[in-house]
Amino acid sequence: MSDTLLDVHHLKKYFPVRRGILQRVANHVKAVDDISFSINRGETLSLVGESGCGKTTAGRALLNLIPSTSGTVRFDGIEITGASTSEMRPLRQKMQIVFQDPYSSLNPRMTVKAIVEEGLTIHGIGNRQQRTERVGEILHRVGLDPSYVHRYPHEFSGGQRQRLGIARALAVHPTFVVLDEPISALDVSIQSQIINLLNDLKRTMQLTYLFISHDLSVVRYLSDRVAVMYLGEIVELASSQMLYENPLHPYTKALLSAVPRSKPQQVSTRVKLPGDVPSPLNPPSGCRFHPRCPLAEEICRRQAPEAKVVDQHLVACHLVTRAE
Ligand code: SF4
Repeated sequence: MSDTLLDVHHLKKYFPVRRGILQRVANHVKAVDDISFSINRGETLSLVGESGCGKTTAGRALLNLIPSTSGTVRFDGIEITGASTSEMRPLRQKMQIVFQDPYSSLNPRMTVKAIVEEGLTIHGIGNRQQRTERVGEILHRVGLDPSYVHRYPHEFSGGQRQRLGIARALAVHPTFVVLDEPISALDVSIQSQIINLLNDLKRTMQLTYLFISHDLSVVRYLSDRVAVMYLGEIVELASSQMLYENPLHPYTKALLSAVPRSKPQQVSTRVKLPGDVPSPLNPPSGCRFHPRCPLAEEICRRQAPEAKVVDQHLVACHLVTRAE
């Protein structure tokens, strides 16, 4: 059995923009533009970047929840790109997602039992009694009282609802879970509880995670590796330790400069990036980061940098040729 659980190869997701009476395709939003990475069994890879960088679209495209434009995704050796709903059904059990917003992702008219049991029923797991037992077991594992089964989502706090979302995803015994900003809608005081819970569940249930976040500070202690996305592309990918201790790409450096330091004596110089992330409808020429990059040179405007390995970081920048 290969160590690689998920292999993403040159994945693209473009959304057509239609105009006029005939609704002709006038342009494309290049939400995900040629990204490649793999995730090993038992690993957590974090996909990080500002809002609008394409990370959530990438998560949905690699789960085949939305069709990709081109590229391939292999899960456990099986190519899933373009697979039909029926071909995906057995794999859906193994590939789950936890959504960002625990308020809108749970059906308010369904009880806790119905929400958690739904996936078990769809995938034909167990008989009625076994499913009821599984619901109680998974609620207990995520820290919810199994006696809550007849309650409705509105009776819970935000943190409890996210625990419920996690229970729903894990009830069907997945091996791979996309965690799409699972804590960003929660109070800061609750965030660390959910992070600890996800870490515990990963260890005890032998899970593999893709953790999507806009905030580098929350993924540090959860991630084995981190991929930084900017405007549809991965600009740096490295082990968590290497990325945090020695970021190489100017964008990663800017993101990290905004992360509060754990030791007050550590002084950080905040790099303030001018402007917002440009529109993926018309991405800048050359290096897409050049209009905001403090180090941009003439070549950056003309030529897109190739991703290359520099001191065990995969990095796409003309000026990075060795670690500092
Ligand atoms: Fe900045 Fe140029 Fe590197 Fe892009 S290629 S990140 S613009 S220095």
